[in-house]
Amino acid sequence: MTVAILALQGAFVEHAAMLDRLGADHFEIRQLRDLERPFDGLILPGGESTVMGKLLRDLGLFEPLREQIQAGLPVFGTCAGLILLAKTVEGGVPCFATLDISVKRNAYGRQLGSFYTEETCQDIGKIPMTFIRAPYIEAVSGDAQALATVEGKIVAARQNKQLVTAFHPELNQDLSVHQYFLNMIRA
Ligand code: GLN
Repeated sequence: MTVAILALQGAFVEHAAMLDRLGADHFEIRQLRDLERPFDGLILPGGESTVMGKLLRDLGLFEPLREQIQAGLPVFGTCAGLILLAKTVEGGVPCFATLDISVKRNAYGRQLGSFYTEETCQDIGKIPMTFIRAPYIEAVSGDAQALATVEGKIVAARQNKQLVTAFHPELNQDLSVHQYFLNMIRA
């Protein structure tokens, strides 16, 4: 099994380190020709969703990746990656728009949006959650399901093979969210 990590900007190295610890093969997607290599799942990291959205289009990656996600490619988006997948974005522009959630960008305020907590994630258990200028999910619809909430706000969701977290599992030692994604790919 091989996981591709979008590596245009943001916290992609940290995801690679998690996959190394889990013994999963991975490579980075930086340009169109990287898509020639076969992969079974895709990680969209945290960073700045507006910048990543622009680079995806400028590099010609947007259309082919969107087609693959729509066709069922397992994808895991953290923070900005969550925003890239959301159909509705308050305070931003939708990018792939493949996931039936509406999300509020910088939802906790620009300065105070970074914090740490521990909460239960459905099917996973209690996990560390590090938030950095984070969005939250205002609503899920269609086949999308909320997996975790923090103080009444949805911070993780899943729809078929799409998994998103508003927090950054790659910034803590706990491997369980990445393990959950690998299980999604295998299933
Ligand atoms: N605030 C960023 C955005 O809107 C997301 C922050 C992050 O990924 N840590 O894209």
